[in-house]
Amino acid sequence: MSRRHICFFVPPHIVDHMAKATAADGLEPGAAQRTAVASDKLRQQRRYATNASLATLTPPQPGKADRQVYDDKNQWDYDVQLVRGEGDQPVAGANANAAYDALGATRSFYKEVLGRDSIDNVGSTLVADVNFGELYDNAFWDGQRMVFGNGDNIIFKDFTGDVDVPGHELTHGVTQYTAGLQYTDQPGALNEAFSDIFGSCVDMYANNRDAGEHNWLIGEDVMADGLYGEAIRSMSHPGTAYDNSLMGHDPQPDSMAGYVPGGDPHLNSGIINRTFYLTALDLGAFPAAKIWYAALQNLWPTAQFADAAHVCGEMARILARDGVVARQAPQTVRAAFHEVGIV
Ligand SMILES: [Zn+2]
Repeated sequence: MSRRHICFFVPPHIVDHMAKATAADGLEPGAAQRTAVASDKLRQQRRYATNASLATLTPPQPGKADRQVYDDKNQWDYDVQLVRGEGDQPVAGANANAAYDALGATRSFYKEVLGRDSIDNVGSTLVADVNFGELYDNAFWDGQRMVFGNGDNIIFKDFTGDVDVPGHELTHGVTQYTAGLQYTDQPGALNEAFSDIFGSCVDMYANNRDAGEHNWLIGEDVMADGLYGEAIRSMSHPGTAYDNSLMGHDPQPDSMAGYVPGGDPHLNSGIINRTFYLTALDLGAFPAAKIWYAALQNLWPTAQFADAAHVCGEMARILARDGVVARQAPQTVRAAFHEVGIV
């Protein structure tokens, strides 16, 4: 049942715009175009990997959730040189250390807040690759490892610079082992939203903030200096994260009124992101996370938005009854899904 896919942190609609914008500006056929080409190659690989994984996916092996950080030395290749393992001292490469710390924050959030032992809940090793490719303007999870590019320093900088990135990407692994949400249409948008939801929670966990103080932006710390203040997505106000000539205009709808039929999962995910934001403002981010995490374990590969509303509501009721979340949680969750037009 488990289907692997590569989720790119910078979604296809931004990558495509970046490639066109740099070509139109007569810039050196630069990083954005290289990224577009590399992303196409990786999408091809993903198709092969998806087919292969159906036959070869093996059950997870119990482990100790140890971290391994590889330096890819700017090659378009994985796991080139292991530079830091669990418990090792910091190394010379700042981004290798940042990746090590970010994997640690993600692991701790899942363990301490949600009681989950690594991605597969049996302590799988957490692998990160840094310095992947040349000026590569993206980061992704390929089902086995978290891969970070350096960015081109025009649009993005090193992708280890924001804990949202591994928080988001590793959650795709968690989803793969739980609901197994398909990566198209509404299940795909749910899949994306769960990654933003727990990615933002990792950010709040690592920076000791709750819902009211959080900026609810995804990827704001990997924007290059010239795009300071922009972000890839806004969970509180989908559709407002960016507006500039390099990236285009943020196309995310914030309610079902703007739903894009058949849209890329990164578009319609904003609708679900906003339900979580509204819930977290009332209940607190981590109580809300407990509800969504319980839902993730009770959803299924073809689940639709209305199913998520129903299951989140049921989980809120159970967790409120057990005193894990506040008494009003079921009403809060219902109101959030109502506000965005799902129920
Ligand atoms: Zn994603």
